[in-house]
Amino acid sequence: MQYFSTNKKSSLVGFRDALFQGLAPDGGLYLPENIPILWDKLKYKDLSYPELAFEILHPYVDGEIPKLSLADICQNAFSFIVPVNKIKKDHYILELFHGPTLAFKDFAARFMARSMEYFLDNNSKELTVLVATSGDTGSAVASGFHNVDGIRVVILYPKGRVTPIQERQLTSLGDNITALEIDGSFDDCQLIVKMAFQDKDLNESIHLSSANSINIARLLPQSVYYFWAHKQISRNEPIIVSVPSGNFGNLTGGLLAKKMGLPIEKFIASTNKNDVVPEYLDSGKFQPRPSVRTLSNAMDVGDPSNLSRIQKLHNYDMKNIRNNIMGIAYTDDETIDSISKIFSENQIILDPHTAVGYAGLLDYKKEFNSMNPGVVLSTAHPAKFIESVEPAIGEKISIPKRLQHFIGREMQKIEMSNRMSDVKEFLLTA
Ligand SMILES: *Cc1c(COP(=O)(O)O)cnc(C)c1O
Repeated sequence: MQYFSTNKKSSLVGFRDALFQGLAPDGGLYLPENIPILWDKLKYKDLSYPELAFEILHPYVDGEIPKLSLADICQNAFSFIVPVNKIKKDHYILELFHGPTLAFKDFAARFMARSMEYFLDNNSKELTVLVATSGDTGSAVASGFHNVDGIRVVILYPKGRVTPIQERQLTSLGDNITALEIDGSFDDCQLIVKMAFQDKDLNESIHLSSANSINIARLLPQSVYYFWAHKQISRNEPIIVSVPSGNFGNLTGGLLAKKMGLPIEKFIASTNKNDVVPEYLDSGKFQPRPSVRTLSNAMDVGDPSNLSRIQKLHNYDMKNIRNNIMGIAYTDDETIDSISKIFSENQIILDPHTAVGYAGLLDYKKEFNSMNPGVVLSTAHPAKFIESVEPAIGEKISIPKRLQHFIGREMQKIEMSNRMSDVKEFLLTA
């Protein structure tokens, strides 16, 4: 498969180059040149999750990762359950938080780590994977890449804007993982990563790669679970999917799935008050602005990087985009109400991100009176956000073992300003 840049100025590259480059040299984002129609072939096949992932992903790495190796990567990366939980008639929750760091980012981070490991050999120069995180990406990447030979991971996270558990997950692994606590917002962290890729001397001195959703290798594995959800629901009608969104990598994975033939009637882009995309869908104008803090902190993104992919995938046609995606934004109070309501009505505990997604699905169904199966992507386990979830439901929640394990561990972090020059110096000298 060849990948092109959304800015159209860089040349086509294969999977390996797209994976390691992250951002294209012209500053654009990579997309696959042609997207094969896979649904017809997969619809009636009885496949495990790793088998389904293999079937969907192999055209994208064809000629670069042999089938047997890809099958191994999928078995290893997707070694946890992916339940689809029926809440009530036509309402489903796709639980994407059963990986080691209890958020959906594990799918992509584990696939990327194993793909990079496949390509690196003993002669390769050490690779630095740079990643900006609003909370969950960093921990998933840290866990996915921990102790992978030949790779060091440098995580940039915004000071004071991740939860205590997220911070432990980011900072306590050590070894080849370093966490930089940046005095700024997630957008500052993301900008530093983008600038690092465009910095000539830095790239001449060290081998840099990114694990943010600018990397196409993050999006590809995120298209698999849309197929999985449809197969588990096993009905013929197109599904409606509500995606709690920040950087829009998760939703863009769904757009790819739809291009691969998966019947999806509508995407609901559910956001918190960082609602530049719902606003864009409304007004037609994309106006990035500094992010504000909310309870669903992994969605506190003011300049979502995947918008250029979303536009390209719809041929830059606003009408087309609006037909496919509806945007709805919720305040923190509405998020808390959503958590309480679902708990009292259905005895289900949702984290604040998923609660935003669930509110989006309910509002969509009400407005359009749709009888199609609606699926909410549940992006994190509620125990990661215990500070807001417990008061909302008025009960204690139990913390899964793999999360408990981080509590009380020693944190190792390096404090840093939000200036690119400081991060650059660190990268060159550490
Ligand atoms: C990252 C994240 C999101 C947002 O996903 P995007 O791909 O950035 O839109 C939503 N919920 C949780 C829990 C996350 O970690």
